[in-house]
Amino acid sequence: MIYGEGELIVCQNCKTELENIRQEKLLSKDRLILLKQPERIVQVNYPITKNDNSVKIITAWRVQYNTILGPGKGGIRFHPAVDLDEVTELAFGMTLKTSLVDLPYGGAKGGVRINPENYSDKELEQIARGYVRALFEVLGPHKDIPAPDVNTNPQIMAWMLDEYEKIAGKPSPAFITGKPIEKGGSEGRDRSTARGGFYILEKEYESVIDKSEITVAIQGFGNAGSVMADLLFKAGYKVVAVSDSSGGLYNKDGLDIPKLIDYIYGEENKIKKLITYQEEQKISNEELLTAEVDLLIPAALGGVITAKNAEKIKAKMILELANGPILPIAERTLVNNEIKIIPGILANSGGVIVSYFEWRQNLDNEHWSLEEVNDKLKEKIVGAYEEVKTMARKENLTYRRASYKLAIDRIVKKSNN
Ligand code: GLU
Repeated sequence: MIYGEGELIVCQNCKTELENIRQEKLLSKDRLILLKQPERIVQVNYPITKNDNSVKIITAWRVQYNTILGPGKGGIRFHPAVDLDEVTELAFGMTLKTSLVDLPYGGAKGGVRINPENYSDKELEQIARGYVRALFEVLGPHKDIPAPDVNTNPQIMAWMLDEYEKIAGKPSPAFITGKPIEKGGSEGRDRSTARGGFYILEKEYESVIDKSEITVAIQGFGNAGSVMADLLFKAGYKVVAVSDSSGGLYNKDGLDIPKLIDYIYGEENKIKKLITYQEEQKISNEELLTAEVDLLIPAALGGVITAKNAEKIKAKMILELANGPILPIAERTLVNNEIKIIPGILANSGGVIVSYFEWRQNLDNEHWSLEEVNDKLKEKIVGAYEEVKTMARKENLTYRRASYKLAIDRIVKKSNN
């Protein structure tokens, strides 16, 4: 074990991952010691006033896992199941992700333990502003730069930025990324997570001329999943199944994704559920994961591929667009069954890559065109993908192990300088 007596263990999955890396002798124990524990954990509890005038205490966290490569970077999620362990694990993931794609950032993450569906916009605004007030001291354009994650969006980033600037007493657009364009956000940031993953898939399937031969199932129809479905549909892939938290839709001849997006997102301020769509066959989320497809894209929450369902998965490839959808214990089964896995720290890094571009534009007072952003994203993510592929081949590793090794190596190298 790499954890010693009396040491705080706050993230079981981080520990498992580090242990796997050590056992496979990818890196020595001395080198891994750097990543054993998060540098800083902050929990805050702050009040908001609800619409009925009652006071509610909100519990939230920011974890800065490691800042050897630069200021902390990572999103803030709003979710009823968020806890310190999850935020820590996600901050660990960000540490590896920013390193793997060679950004001058460390890894951090934030979480607010609420179900956003139970709050009005006015209450969500207070939650967003309260988070920044409570954590002001540890955040900042050169300390730790938040961004959107599950259930947070440009509007929430705008409230957070406004609160930060009020306290700082000066314009500081580089404090947060994923902002609306008119507040200093970047072109293309909203679609960047899916777009980055899409560029990787285009490399993976380079030799397939007729993309309609490739069948795809996507779990999650939010910002990442719906955009990925759209990009794949337009490039000619056959997207046969999609789902959201209400359930899924299936059509063996391929779903009409633009029509579906129009149905779900067509009305302003109201996102519909897939279950209310009448025209296609209904399937459950579990059926979607085990559907007969070439490519499976989990694009919702973590931990959905488990020891229980891993054996039933029929896809030949899984691209992790969500953070941590495959539990380490399930991964072993998938690898034994020769299913290729593109790990999230590579596959979904498009979001943080364009966040970096946004931050740079803010610091340099520039505004890049969508074309420039997408070209730079492609170059960056395909470059990282090629590096992972080369390392995987050379050392006979899975893409995940190769990604971890490259990411940790870069952190260790910097710490030796
Ligand atoms: N929440 C996203 C992620 O998990 C984006 C983070 C960022 O842009 O800082 O990668």
